[in-house]
Amino acid sequence: MNNKLYFYGGLDTVGGVHVIYQHGNVGLLFDAGIAHKGLFRAPFIHLNDRLQPTKGLELEQYLLNKMAPPIQELYDESATTHITQEDLLALWEKDHFPAFEKMYVFISHMHQDHMALLPFFRENVTVYMHELSYATYQAMVEANYYMDTKATIVTFHTNETIELDGFSLQTMEVDHNILGTSGFLLHSNEGKIAFTADWRMHGHHQQKMQQFISTCQEASVDILLTETTKVTPNSAEKASEAKAESTVLEQFEELIAQQKGLTYLLALPLDVERMINMILIADRQEKILILDQQIAHFWRQIRKEEALFKAIDDFSAVEDRVIRVLSHQSTSTKSSSYRQVGIKEIVHDKQRYIFHLTFTSIPLFIQMERLGEKGNASIFIHANCPADQQLLQTWLTAFNIRYHNISNAGHATHQDIIDLTEQINPKVIIPIHGNQPHMLKSNKENVYLPTYGEEVVIRELIQGEEKQANEIY
Ligand SMILES: [Zn+2]
Ligand SMILES: [Zn+2]
Repeated sequence: MNNKLYFYGGLDTVGGVHVIYQHGNVGLLFDAGIAHKGLFRAPFIHLNDRLQPTKGLELEQYLLNKMAPPIQELYDESATTHITQEDLLALWEKDHFPAFEKMYVFISHMHQDHMALLPFFRENVTVYMHELSYATYQAMVEANYYMDTKATIVTFHTNETIELDGFSLQTMEVDHNILGTSGFLLHSNEGKIAFTADWRMHGHHQQKMQQFISTCQEASVDILLTETTKVTPNSAEKASEAKAESTVLEQFEELIAQQKGLTYLLALPLDVERMINMILIADRQEKILILDQQIAHFWRQIRKEEALFKAIDDFSAVEDRVIRVLSHQSTSTKSSSYRQVGIKEIVHDKQRYIFHLTFTSIPLFIQMERLGEKGNASIFIHANCPADQQLLQTWLTAFNIRYHNISNAGHATHQDIIDLTEQINPKVIIPIHGNQPHMLKSNKENVYLPTYGEEVVIRELIQGEEKQANEIY
């Protein structure tokens, strides 16, 4: 059988990877998000993108912008009423697309550049994701960040083998700044294909990456698809080490321990592990963490997922002691059941509070800074959250708030990617999920750079590289 890989997205963008593995009349799509680039981005917790796709027409706009794979078997028909197959063929300059009788989707994690298309899949599409990813999605739906999906969701654990029609997926968890992030090793009679998803070596779970590498080594992977977010022309030469997650937390603790005034925090709520650690640190420093209502609701939902919190027995007591929700906000979102705190209480005891902001809550600086205690400047701690930096600086300057950036990267350094590819030593490396994947420095001749809409016969791709290697040596 001449099974193929089809490449529809994420070839020169961070995220928006859309690769389809075709096995006879069965298709497996990975991943299913919207790239961090382009005319607009997908809805995202915390980000205030002013330009969003038109409600009800989102999928059509994604499809007509080549931001979603043009395979209509994937989508709920009601989401694409204005588009025909001919429109998509003309757009992609093709005379056909692959036809599938059965479609599977693998979603590596719950960042919007990997999952934003999930609400649009049709009922008979089976979507595989890690159980923690599904817990996160349910909390995002519950807190009104995303619509639910009609697709059939099947969750997996780490290192599970999923038997599909004529091939299987071995699931492998990797380390990234959201829990449950998973890659896979696809086994078929034509070869073995590994997909890293988003990964890093400087997080708390390096052993997951060691496990990924050794599993790929033992299996003798033929094709390796890896993310290349941090690959730029000079990034391999730069000696700068990625900041460890433990350093981020140490810096956070140091800042809040010394702070005599109010602290603002802009941090990713989806990074549940970091958020747990920050709550524990806040408790240790006898601070109160104020949450925006929608995030509080998200947190209450994700909190129900015992697996996320099993390591910390007494976390319930800690969070109820530490977390408050700002009481002035309108109650369009459901109540989160955390205790409330009002502006008056905060401004009369500023040292006690850390205000976990959303970007759109920034106008609350006005009450917080103009009212109540004076004399101790507020600080703003920024920990990995996309924001309009220029606008943010204007507000910080206006109120004389000191800015501290303690962010680190959720992604592997260029050198870590080189090391990983050398250790796994696949026959073919396909660098994706980066603005400049072609800049990946590799000693080998086996880097394959697909183009948009390209279809590649897997056997030929593997044999072609074998042949090329034999000619060289
Ligand atoms: Zn990503
Ligand atoms: Zn990610």
